Amino acid sequence: MVIAAKPTFRTDAFIDGSYRPAQSGARFTTENPATGQALAEVAAGDAADIDLAVRAARRAFDDGRWSRRAPADRKRVLLGFADLLEASLEELAMLDSLEAGKPITDCRTVDVPDAIRTFRWFAEAIDKVFDAVAPTGPEALGLIVREPIGVVGAVVPWNYPLLMATWKLAPALAAGNSVIVKPAELTSLSTIRMAELASDAGLPDGVFNVVPGLGETAGQALGRHMDVDMVTFTGSTEVGRYFLKYAAESNLKEITLECGGKSPQVVLANPPDLDLVAEQVLIAGLMNMGENCSCGSRLIVDRSVHDALLERLVAGIAAWPVGDPLDPATRLGPMIERPHLDKVLSYIAAGRDEGARVVAGGGRTLEATGGYFVAPTILDDVRNTMTVAREEIFGPVISTIAVDSEDEAVALANQTTYGLAASLYTKDLDTAIRVARSLRAGTVGVNAYSEGDVTTPFGGYKESGFGGRDKGLEAFEQYTQKKTIWFTLRG
Ligand code: NDP
Repeated sequence: MVIAAKPTFRTDAFIDGSYRPAQSGARFTTENPATGQALAEVAAGDAADIDLAVRAARRAFDDGRWSRRAPADRKRVLLGFADLLEASLEELAMLDSLEAGKPITDCRTVDVPDAIRTFRWFAEAIDKVFDAVAPTGPEALGLIVREPIGVVGAVVPWNYPLLMATWKLAPALAAGNSVIVKPAELTSLSTIRMAELASDAGLPDGVFNVVPGLGETAGQALGRHMDVDMVTFTGSTEVGRYFLKYAAESNLKEITLECGGKSPQVVLANPPDLDLVAEQVLIAGLMNMGENCSCGSRLIVDRSVHDALLERLVAGIAAWPVGDPLDPATRLGPMIERPHLDKVLSYIAAGRDEGARVVAGGGRTLEATGGYFVAPTILDDVRNTMTVAREEIFGPVISTIAVDSEDEAVALANQTTYGLAASLYTKDLDTAIRVARSLRAGTVGVNAYSEGDVTTPFGGYKESGFGGRDKGLEAFEQYTQKKTIWFTLRG
């Protein structure tokens, strides 16, 4: 496949329908993690720019230019926007690949198409959801109506730049809110471009704003702003906690958190075809370089099939070439940045120190490129108490833990502070249902790794999530609030 030419970078904030630099004039540099070279100088928005965007969003919300449009009308605009995203697929894929180091094939076939599908699905859904009438007696009529929340801040991470912004934007915009996105400082370009396309599609000014900038400044300003009604966040659990604090110390804005994970992949004694299991386990552990909140980083496997599965996993890694993200054959790009590379390598070292055995990978690779590549790594002889089994590594590292029974497998799977996703493998239907019900996670994949699709809610149990779900009709819950309108009838 021919690679498109390097796209033009839009690097300013997008506020009230137009591009503008940060009011301070400050910029920060993003780099290409596959080369370590500078890529773009992006506007470093701060509290003043967030305030400008919030004011624009509030004006747009209050005058009803979007919030009071008929749902069918919002649908039409958002479907047009999805068409423009589709026409720009190559450009958007290239932006995420260059800035996040994501394999271009994934960007073309997963990230951008999923984002388009998500906008279309929420656009199509919004004029098909009904409000409710309360079961009153004849003396009253009680309407329970759903209204948009108002001004929504979306603070998103770098691992799926376009898609994570979309999971927030699509339901929030469809429901009639005005949105300000604060992208991760490492990956702003595709979101900035997306805002322009939305404007081209007819989204009114002020409804979709993007303020790039640092978390501690722009992110915090959004979290503490007195006129933001809600913040929807995806990222680390640690920063998720900050948003709860910001809300508590400001205007009690609503907060929804989609945070980290340490997701188990449970392979029981009677698994389906082991070749298939191995393929799925590698996808779960290595997809997006393991920089994935639902990464299946803990492989909990019955001792009776442990050796046969491990052999297949080690052989299967050959199907995961590491290399230039712009090469369509590449399945593993670099880590997002140098500090993250160091963090992932330090986890592998901790695994070794605590007694794990490296059976594949185990270190940096392709160093001459200047990029931050890690070889896909499998650790064996891991115990669930080790650092590599407890903490989110966010790299291409699978930790293997052998167990002797279903009960032990389930107990270890649940022995984590996280609860985002899990997978289980068994040929027995009763076992599958029993174990799926026992796993404390927001999504459980049976005989395959899966996050579900746009129709199903996505979010975490325990410290993986709080306050709502991305995707599915459930996502409308977090971007709307319910109002009771009560009529007392006389006569
Ligand atoms: P963070 O949680 O730090 O970042 C997520 C978003 O929050 C970014 O937009 C970030 O901005 C912003 N942010 C950071 N600090 C603050 C703050 N003090 N106040 C307000 N906003 C803030 O994730 P990182 O990108 O630093 O990654 C760290 C770890 O988090 C990863 O190694 C991984 O374990 C986990 N993670 C989980 C993700 C998930 O999908 N659940 C996604 C990404 C990371 P900025 O980029 O400027 O720091």
